Amino acid sequence: MAAYDFDLFVIGAGSGGVRASRMAAGFGARVAVAEDRYLGGTCVNVGCVPKKLFAYAAHFAEDFEDAAGYGWDLPASGFNWSRLVENKNREILRLNGIYRNLLTSAGVQLIEGRARLLDSHTVEVNGQSYTAERILLATGGWPHIPEFPGREHVISSNEVFYLPELPKRTLVVGGGYIAIEFASIFHGLGCDSTLLYRGELFLRGFDLGVREHVAKTLKDKGLDLRFNADVERIDKQPDGSLRVALKSGETLDADLVLYATGRKPNLDGLGLENTAATLDAKGFIAVDSDYQTQDPAIFAIGDVTDTLQLTPVALAEGMALARRLFKPEEYRPVDYADIPTAVFCIPNIATLGLSEEQARAKGYQLKVFESRFRAMRNTLAGRSEQSFMKLLVDKVTDRVLGIHMVGPEAGEIVQGLAVAVKAGATKAVFDATLGIHPTAAEEFVTMR
Ligand code: FAD
Ligand code: NDP
Repeated sequence: MAAYDFDLFVIGAGSGGVRASRMAAGFGARVAVAEDRYLGGTCVNVGCVPKKLFAYAAHFAEDFEDAAGYGWDLPASGFNWSRLVENKNREILRLNGIYRNLLTSAGVQLIEGRARLLDSHTVEVNGQSYTAERILLATGGWPHIPEFPGREHVISSNEVFYLPELPKRTLVVGGGYIAIEFASIFHGLGCDSTLLYRGELFLRGFDLGVREHVAKTLKDKGLDLRFNADVERIDKQPDGSLRVALKSGETLDADLVLYATGRKPNLDGLGLENTAATLDAKGFIAVDSDYQTQDPAIFAIGDVTDTLQLTPVALAEGMALARRLFKPEEYRPVDYADIPTAVFCIPNIATLGLSEEQARAKGYQLKVFESRFRAMRNTLAGRSEQSFMKLLVDKVTDRVLGIHMVGPEAGEIVQGLAVAVKAGATKAVFDATLGIHPTAAEEFVTMR
């Protein structure tokens, strides 16, 4: 008789939890996963997937404009927000079903409901207790909105995907991934889009060249970017609109205010206090390099820990942990170096490795290669927008330390280059590589 109901009980069927559950079950473990909201977690339901679908929708505005220069006479284009949301919802339902099948066909027992830890080996869901030799916390994150008068009038990224109608004037607060992506999406869909950021220049942590290029490009497109801008209070007006008072004394009117001011680990009602697991100084679940908490039976991965909040990172951690626990001979630790990432604003930003500022702070002697050019597609379109590319190379070893791009399909391009950097590519290897002509990507192998 097994001492526990399960070998592994996973809380949270998001990116990390689903991957860990499926892999562990595939290695022969008896696995259960509890999910209280939506299969696939943040990424599938209120994150990467619907965001990218909205970004595609927003992109058509420019595609229609550009078409004229290529000889197309298009009828006046109208946009139907409800149709976009309905089609997006249908696609997400389809993905939810795929996730359900993936879990059940792998032999994972899916338990729908909010899970609470009763002790190091016991989880309660819907009033029923389950025991497990090990428990994995993969509960993800939740939008964080600071306290201020009028906070109740704003929404987070959770709600933006289900707005009953598209507002005319949108104001996004924040200067990270979600703020930039949504300011861009709103603009593309025809809203008057304003972005407020509390600091000098948004996208802190990204290469300065990228930050400046994105700010200029978005301003040129007509987005209203306000830096050094802090909200004092927000009041609802009799007509239902929102008056946003800034600390500078200025006021702005908007129909919708989206706060994208970071995410906090999702720990509500989890019962962590009933175990020996602890939090770190930033409030994430503290884990060692094997994702083990202070409680030897409890592990945590993904956004609930202080890791890079990206789906591929949660997936990789889920996979590594499943191997570590149930197939140790195949275990490979996650390599956190040179993780590529993209911001899906229009145009995209994609980046990998060090920014110039980080590389200099680390003491590297750098060769910096930069290129600004108008993509060929923009010529007949009559669009003056430029793309930006930057390569940072270590003068001593010739290794490529950082790749940064702002331009159409930057995410697709930098993903390919990430393989080369992972393989230790030097600038000489880039130089020896022939381009695919005519593409924007070939610029990365012709920069001298
Ligand atoms: P999650 O995917 O958040 O899953 C956690 C799951 O646990 C949820 O389903 C939740 O309902 C469940 N849960 C929580 N508590 C309990 C409980 N007590 N009982 C039962 N279930 C519980 N990343 C990218 O790589 N690319 C992108 O383009 C991208 N876009 C994003 C856009 C937005 C708007 C947001 C918000 C995030 C985006 N991300 C993106 C980040 C990405 O979504 C997360 O990094 C990823 O989902 C983290 O996975 P996770 O498994 O840690 O948590
Ligand atoms: P980020 O951490 O990226 O950005 C948060 C922003 O909010 C920062 O600009 C920060 O400013 C600002 N901020 C924080 N607190 C306040 C405050 N009290 N008042 C005003 N501004 C504040 O968080 P996001 O919410 O944008 O996204 C969360 C994470 O999800 C991302 O970091 C990313 O890992 C992931 N994600 C990934 C995407 C992708 O891969 N394409 C897309 C969307 C999300 P400051 O810089 O000054 O601290």
